[in-house]
Amino acid sequence: MATRTILSPTSGFIREAGFTHSLTPARNCTFGCSYCYVPTMRLQGGLQPADWQRWGQFTTFKSDAPALLAKQLRPGQIIYCSPLVDPYQPAEAAERLMPQLLALLASRPPRRFVLQTRGTLIRRDIELLQRVPGLRVSFSLTTNREDVRRLFEPHCATFEQRLETIQALREAGIDVWATLAPLLPCDPELLAEAALAATGRDLVGDPLHVRAVKPRGATTRDAALRIIDHHGFQAYLDPADQAALVERIARTAAAHGRQFLTGPAGFALLSAAD
Ligand code: SF4
Repeated sequence: MATRTILSPTSGFIREAGFTHSLTPARNCTFGCSYCYVPTMRLQGGLQPADWQRWGQFTTFKSDAPALLAKQLRPGQIIYCSPLVDPYQPAEAAERLMPQLLALLASRPPRRFVLQTRGTLIRRDIELLQRVPGLRVSFSLTTNREDVRRLFEPHCATFEQRLETIQALREAGIDVWATLAPLLPCDPELLAEAALAATGRDLVGDPLHVRAVKPRGATTRDAALRIIDHHGFQAYLDPADQAALVERIARTAAAHGRQFLTGPAGFALLSAAD
């Protein structure tokens, strides 16, 4: 797929979190998470009808991304990759677009480059990641419960595989954080303890988006709402219960001298200077 631009000026949540640009290397994401907010954005998220009608069933890489990035990269940019897909989604194994982008970022680094992923494939690129100044990895940990993961995100790695990946990145000297978002049904203290132990960092996160709190824009998609209904997880959509869940994680983090921040304030930890 040919595109005219690869770095988009930010707006909304990501802008509030301090990012100047987002980089989205593909359209549609083959992890296909049941709750994914992106297909609910439709045209506003740069999607085409086939994307939201068959979310997760295919992807379309932006093959000219390296050439476009070479033209658009500037030293002061604070880039989030990506609000719309996982850059290490399964199809990236064959596509190998990220190594090309990382090589470019290593030679002409922006002020900050944050990779948001839950893909263990990122380990393939450790040597390149090490060469990008200002790079930070934000690794998604949504639940510590394997039964819950299988229900909501069956195509993603297990909790243990994700912790192993975080540890491998950390051992390689890469600045890696855990993002507890969206918070699925979980044992909050166990989830927080594992994330703190793996990263040694503050924790970032967010409950599932619900209309009661976020009346407009991207929201939790119907596939997850059906799972929640069927399995009796309605508390994870209730703003009061969500606040209690956040509080339990924040208390666990505080016991380790760390903080747990949600929403743009949480993601601002990722865009901030060292
Ligand atoms: S990995 Fe992220 S972008 Fe991809 S389907 Fe899951 S939530 Fe959506």
